[in-house]
Amino acid sequence: MSYAGPDFEPPQPRRFRRGPLTVALAALVPGALLGWLVYATVGGSGDGGARDRASTSASAAPTTPTGPGEPTEDGKGPSPAPTASAPAASGPLKGKVVVIDPGHNPGNFRHPGEINRPVDIGTNRKECDTTGTSTDDGYTEARFTLDVAHRMRTLLREQGATVKLTQDGDRPYGPCVDERARIGNEAKADAVVSIHADGSGAGNRGFHVILPGSVRAGAADTRAIVAPSRDLGERVAGRFVAVTGSAPSNYAGDGTGLVTRKDLGGLNLSTVPKVFIECGNMRDSKDAALLTSGAWRQKAAQGISEGIVSFLRG
Ligand code: ZN
Repeated sequence: MSYAGPDFEPPQPRRFRRGPLTVALAALVPGALLGWLVYATVGGSGDGGARDRASTSASAAPTTPTGPGEPTEDGKGPSPAPTASAPAASGPLKGKVVVIDPGHNPGNFRHPGEINRPVDIGTNRKECDTTGTSTDDGYTEARFTLDVAHRMRTLLREQGATVKLTQDGDRPYGPCVDERARIGNEAKADAVVSIHADGSGAGNRGFHVILPGSVRAGAADTRAIVAPSRDLGERVAGRFVAVTGSAPSNYAGDGTGLVTRKDLGGLNLSTVPKVFIECGNMRDSKDAALLTSGAWRQKAAQGISEGIVSFLRG
């Protein structure tokens, strides 16, 4: 994620400390783990439930990216599959709508004027979008987010969900953060997850899930989504830990993997349950080694997707 401007963001632990975010309490960890345990008990105990099927497909996908529509190892994304827009006929998530928001856009670098244009996020005005960060070797966050989104789309469609992406590398830049929120709202999404990887300092590691704080200002009113978004976020965090083995961030969220913020337009303007996830820190070499691995990205996609499945199945 980059909120600092069009360039790669600088190391940001200081931003987290001084910013308007509310640090999640350590007491929330049991909530995340509880979500995982409930899910593991209800949905994945050998009953052919979502977890089993997701695991099966996940184990095959990283090594067999052969068909059209399959994620590619280099993260450039798949070519559209002939059936890409067809909803699954059945599955536990039949009738559910999931919107995946791949953070940034690979083309944002070429459109600084457009993405720097301020948009209204309720509390204030903020740039339309940002370029995002990248690893030291030049693997961009925008490529990462799109690749994970494609993998999630495959997994969630297998569960019967109707899945929509806010962008699929099919537009020159953006969309702006207000439009990203609007896409989820207009789809009447049952859950929205915005995919990111962070650009913090070397040595800062791990993932964190960002939850909407309670905001009522201008066009923003998150009061109705704070509680369900927390539930969604705790379940995503719990499953992300379980599937990837990654630890919660060592620089944000006090070890809970959960951070609440009131300064993100994509959350402020959402009227449906929504969270962001920073899957790791692209500027740390150890995290970068994970983020650039197709096999790891498959685990990340599976963990996030299982959290969504758990939330939607209740
Ligand atoms: Zn980002």
